[in-house]
Amino acid sequence: MQLPSSAHKLAIGAALAALVLGSGAAATAGARTGSPTGTGAAGRAATGHGATLGHSGGAVPAGFHPGAPGVGDPYFPLEGNGGYDVKHYDLDLSYSPDTHLLQGSNTITATATQNLSSFDLDFKGFDVSAVDVDGQAATFARDGQELTITPTAGLPRGQTFTTKVSYAGKPQTVVGSPIVFGAPYGWIYTDDGAFVGCEPNAAHTWFPGNDHPSDKASFSFHITVPKSKEVVANGSLVSQQIHRNKATFVWDEKRPMATYLATIDIGKWQFHSTTTLDGIHEFVAVDPALADEAQREHTVAMTGQITDYWQQAFGRYAFGSTGAIVDNVPDIGFSLETQTRPLYGFVPNPGTASHELSHQWFGDSVSVASWKNIWLNEGFATFASWLWNEHTSGVSTWQTARRYDSAYGPGAAFWKLSIADPGRNRMFHAPVYIRGGMALAALRHRIGQPVFARLLRTWTREHRYGNATTHDFVALADQVSGQDLTHFFHLWLWKQAKPPLT
Ligand SMILES: [Zn+2]
Repeated sequence: MQLPSSAHKLAIGAALAALVLGSGAAATAGARTGSPTGTGAAGRAATGHGATLGHSGGAVPAGFHPGAPGVGDPYFPLEGNGGYDVKHYDLDLSYSPDTHLLQGSNTITATATQNLSSFDLDFKGFDVSAVDVDGQAATFARDGQELTITPTAGLPRGQTFTTKVSYAGKPQTVVGSPIVFGAPYGWIYTDDGAFVGCEPNAAHTWFPGNDHPSDKASFSFHITVPKSKEVVANGSLVSQQIHRNKATFVWDEKRPMATYLATIDIGKWQFHSTTTLDGIHEFVAVDPALADEAQREHTVAMTGQITDYWQQAFGRYAFGSTGAIVDNVPDIGFSLETQTRPLYGFVPNPGTASHELSHQWFGDSVSVASWKNIWLNEGFATFASWLWNEHTSGVSTWQTARRYDSAYGPGAAFWKLSIADPGRNRMFHAPVYIRGGMALAALRHRIGQPVFARLLRTWTREHRYGNATTHDFVALADQVSGQDLTHFFHLWLWKQAKPPLT
C-alpha cells in the first residue's frame, strides 16, 4: 500500500508529525468502523434471528467447543477467527450505485480445525437475513464485528463444510482511523460506483469472512450492477452477461488470497486485455476520464514490463494474471496491491506501479503471518521501487539508501521505531517503508547481489501462497548467505536507534 500523498508527506516528516494523528480524537474515531446507525443497527437488531428456525440452541455436544473470536493477532485481537480454515469464498452480490444497496450472499467453504460447536465470522454492518450451514438453517448472533454461527450439529475436526450468509445493506467506509493517518479506506463511494481497498481490516465491511491474512482462500465473484456499469475484480474475467437492465460480471481468483486483497471496483471502465512479453496475461481497467493520461503514461506497457522484470528479480509470478485498476479518485489517492491487479486512485507513475506490483510477491503470494510483520510487505516494496529506479536510471539501491541515511541524523525520531514490531497505529509509518528498504539495500551490499538475489527467490519459492514472519526471513538469510546476520538484523529491524550503513 502507498498512502495518499498528503498523508505520505506527513509520514515522511522527520518529526513524525503523524504521531499526533495517532492519538486523541482520531484514535477514538478509528475504533468506530462503519456507522452505529442505519443498517448497522438493523444488523444488530437481528441478533438471535434464526433461533426460531427449529434449533433449540440446547446442549453443546461433549468435546465440541466454540471457535475463538480472534486468530490471536495482538494488533487486531478480533480479526480472523479460530477453529476453521477457509478454502473458498463465493460472493454473489448485486449493487446499486444509486441507492448504495449491496445485497446477496457469501458462501464459504471451510474445514474445521477443531470440534466446533459454533464459529465466528468477521462482519460489520448490514442486515443478515439468513445463515445456513451445509444447507440447514443455523442460529446466529451478532456482537460488534463478530457473527457467531451455531449449526444444528457440531462440526467435527477435519470436516469440510459450507456456510452461506445472506445479507443486505449499505457498506460503511472506514473513516478517521489512525492506522492509515485518518485516510478513508474499505468501501469508498465514487462518482460512478465504488473503489474497494481494504488493507488491513476492512474486508469485513463488505463481506463476512475470516478477515486475517493468515487464512487465505480462493474467491469467486458474481457481481450484478446496472447494465451501464462494469465490474473489475481479482483474477480472471470468466463472463459478463446482460439480463434486461442488469449486467453480471463473474471473476475468479483460483490462487489463495488474503481477504484484504479482495476487491470489486464498480464504474465505467475501459478494459485492456493483453499479454506481457514474458507471456503473463494482463488485464488493465482504466476510468475513461483518465484514458488519455494512461495512454500518455503507457500504463499498460509499463505494468507488463515491471511484472516481467520482477519475475526475473524475485522468481516466478505466482498468479494467473497481472494488470492495474486505474480509477479516478484523486481525493483518495492511495494505492493498494489488490491481488493480480493493483488498485490506484490515479494514473500510477513507475515508482508507485513498481511498489504495488512487487507486492504481488511480497505481501500477496508471501503474506504476513500477523500484522506486526508488515515490513515484509512495505520494506520490500519500497526496496523494489528503488530497484526499479536502479534498473531504469542507474541510481543504485545503495545510493538511495545513502541518501536517506544522510537525511535522517542519529537524533531523528525516524529511528525510534522498531520496524519489526511497529505497533498497530504505526504499521504504515514512514520508517516501516524506508528503513525497511534501507535494511534490504544494506543486506544486498553486505552479502552481494548474487547471494541476495538467490535469497529473495528462495524466499518467494519457499513461502509461495503461504505466510511468513520476520524470524523466518532472518533464518533464511543466515542459511542462504552462510553468515550469522543476527546482529545485523537486530540493528536494522528491532533496535530503536540509527543503524550504521556500512
Ligand atoms: Zn505498499
